[in-house]
Amino acid sequence: MEIIAIANQKGGVGKTTTAVNLAAALHRIAKKKVLLIDLDSQGNATTGMGLDKNALEYTAADILIDGLAFQKAVVTSPSGLDVIGANKDLAGIDVVLSDVEDAPFLLKKAIKKAKKSGKIDYDFIIIDCAPSLSLLTVNAFCATQGVIIPMQCEYYALEGVVDLIDTIKRLSELNGKLYVRGVVRTMFDSRNTLAQDVSAELENHFGELMYQTLIPRNVRLAEAPSFGCSIFDYEKSSKGARAYHQLMNEILNRVDEPAVSQAKISEQF
Ligand code: ADP
Ligand code: MG
Repeated sequence: MEIIAIANQKGGVGKTTTAVNLAAALHRIAKKKVLLIDLDSQGNATTGMGLDKNALEYTAADILIDGLAFQKAVVTSPSGLDVIGANKDLAGIDVVLSDVEDAPFLLKKAIKKAKKSGKIDYDFIIIDCAPSLSLLTVNAFCATQGVIIPMQCEYYALEGVVDLIDTIKRLSELNGKLYVRGVVRTMFDSRNTLAQDVSAELENHFGELMYQTLIPRNVRLAEAPSFGCSIFDYEKSSKGARAYHQLMNEILNRVDEPAVSQAKISEQF
């Protein structure tokens, strides 16, 4: 079981779009057993999968705050993807859990327990993180082996990335398996010279951690969530679908050696 967190504390960089469509590609095309976890109180991944976030019986908040058994929060989306949804119940969770000693590890422990008792059997768990480095994101980082960082090639792209990498480094002391799997360029417009410049800068900065696949700006990707489905159920011949398919292949083909990847991060930052 591989657990992948999609994170960047900046909003609007394509985290949710990447989480939803990567999960869908793994499920629909690679025929993997996949669970998508929405860890953002905005619930965009939940809505984007065609689920009514305000009608959810349980969310990740019930797992983290009340110790609900992990598998009980799983619902199946109309397109057949398993999802643990989110809504405003996740907001303010930092305060609620501030006195809990092992607060960073609640998600990890819940997943471990469900797996050990045979209640879940996924090939991949994809976590859509909130635009912050809050306790929710820390829970994702403590549960995952690898983080994928979506980045938009615009002027301030690298701003804040230092904090993100620092957090990942610091937490890798708590979770020895934590590493950056890769960085993906989203909403890419190849005709825009600034985008090209920033893209080159990112390649310099992240080196081999950069995925070759460029996710283009594609209106179909922006439209799909309003139909409550991934790009593969909305318009599977679109440029956006082809790009996320290609990204999935790159992710599956890349040999992820945590030790190597951690060394890369230490070297580079
Ligand atoms: P985040 O989760 O990081 O806040 P989103 O995935 O929600 O970012 O993306 C922000 C907005 O940009 C959304 O309206 C989304 O539909 C749109 N968007 C994301 N990726 C693309 C893309 N490749 N092409 C066009 N629109 C996109
Ligand atoms: Mg989002």
